[in-house]
Amino acid sequence: AITRLIFIAGKSQPWSTLVPSKLAAPVDDISDKLHTDPEAIKLASSDYGNMVNESPAAVLYPSSIYDIISLIKSSYNSYVPFGIATRGNGHSTRGQAMVRNGIVVDMSSFRKHRAGKGITFSVSKDPSIGYYADVGGEQLWIDVLLSSVERGLAPVSFTDYLYLTVGGTLSNAGISGQSFRYGPQISNVHEMDVVTGKGDFVTCSPEKNQELFHAVLGGLGQFGIIARARISLEPAPKMVKWIRLLYNDFSAFTKDQERLISINGRKQKNALDYLEGMLLMHQGSINNWRSSFFPLSDHPKIISLMTKHSIIYCLEVAKYYDDNSENDVDKELQDLLQGLSCIPGLYYEKKVSYVDFLNRVRSGELKLQSQGLWDVPHPWLNLFIPKSRILDFDSGVFKDIMLKGNITTGPVLVYPLNRSKWDDRMSASIPDEEVFYTVGFLHSSGFDNWEAFVAQNKKILQFCDNTGIKVKQYLPHYRTQEDWKNHFGSKWRSFQESKQKFDPRMILSPGQRIFIGN
Ligand code: FAD
Repeated sequence: AITRLIFIAGKSQPWSTLVPSKLAAPVDDISDKLHTDPEAIKLASSDYGNMVNESPAAVLYPSSIYDIISLIKSSYNSYVPFGIATRGNGHSTRGQAMVRNGIVVDMSSFRKHRAGKGITFSVSKDPSIGYYADVGGEQLWIDVLLSSVERGLAPVSFTDYLYLTVGGTLSNAGISGQSFRYGPQISNVHEMDVVTGKGDFVTCSPEKNQELFHAVLGGLGQFGIIARARISLEPAPKMVKWIRLLYNDFSAFTKDQERLISINGRKQKNALDYLEGMLLMHQGSINNWRSSFFPLSDHPKIISLMTKHSIIYCLEVAKYYDDNSENDVDKELQDLLQGLSCIPGLYYEKKVSYVDFLNRVRSGELKLQSQGLWDVPHPWLNLFIPKSRILDFDSGVFKDIMLKGNITTGPVLVYPLNRSKWDDRMSASIPDEEVFYTVGFLHSSGFDNWEAFVAQNKKILQFCDNTGIKVKQYLPHYRTQEDWKNHFGSKWRSFQESKQKFDPRMILSPGQRIFIGN
């Protein structure tokens, strides 16, 4: 291959001013794919959080995985390596997909370039694997879902919102109401192709190059760029019964959630397919961008309950079925929900198509976009909390910090997960109890007041620290390596060793701020 130093064609300034030109390594020519125009830089300098701004030196619009390999190799072989951040769909909130003065790899242009060729389907001879899709790391989950459903198949584990990339969610975990039964998305991957921080293209699985496989899943982009993931599929159902029940007692709410997630066998017919929960604390939380569910005629009743109890807890469950099995699913749901301690008479049910259910957040997004309210700051905080301390969390955080603070805007999610559905060899860090809760404060704020939400988030973390609640952040954001050490706990040593092995020059995902020097 013709190799030469990278310069942006026609520009007087080489993008590689970071790399002393005499020492820069020769690489395949990707200069025409590196963009430095203000539009490209601006897009790569912000994210969904709208609180961090870091400008890269240039943005790579790859048209093949070889472009990405060339970029990484050129940094790896340089005297002074430069940082490389993969931008999946930029839906992080704390600059995790950014890099100051380095190169952002824009996966959306790769997606466009591959147009329809990034997802293929097959069935394994190994019955324990069955149907699967080989999916480019740059692909959006919505496209994985839609093209699978066309073939009568679907992945089993999702996120609430589907306009996220496969590489982006697998770098964290990918959780939603299916996770109590099917595990997070990282538990449903059979194999991956990864380009490491040395520029090596490596195929890995639980049997082959296991260390890389486990490190990358939940690995916050530290060890390589996910080029392809083999995702587990099952026959797709057609319809969904979607139910919400209200509680005024947190203890009863969590007890019922825990009972329902204890029935969690993958093949168990009488298990729910989805379980989540949320707080209703103010009028805006009755219906929000995550979904509009309660009939308007019932709003006054719900508001009067909120006024009386300050917080109402909403249990949300779903069960999938096919056209001809509605009666069966109704009976199964009746049996499952019998004896729950929810507020009598407040039972809400919807019947929707499977795709509409999984894509339920999209209509809320489009509505907010049309009002200019989607691209506002999002000072989110997502936590994993051990089950043994969830009541303390409720009294200290929901009923104290949040009620007193009076600044909640946006959904607050609360639902339990089963640790047994996670693979402890993977990088994702979770509490050390069989059942733990995920709590998501999905705040939206104005451009002038997001710091108040960040301050409240800090107060919540401080409260947990003071009272010994061993929380883990999900989609973590820490400033010091000491905090990262605490976050990974017993996994820190192997996390560090894998970094040394697969990205020894600390090139990848510097926006996570884990390793000093990247
Ligand atoms: P980006 O923000 O672009 O990247 C995230 C990190 O992954 C960065 O460090 C980046 O460098 C790295 N990365 C990206 N692509 C690759 C790749 N191919 N290989 C290696 N590293 C890569 N999460 C849940 O688990 N459940 C939810 O229900 C959920 N709902 C959400 C709803 C909304 C509206 C939003 C904005 C986010 C939600 N998230 C949820 C969080 C989301 O999963 C993460 O923020 C995820 O990282 C976003 O994906 P992305 O493609 O935008 O990644």
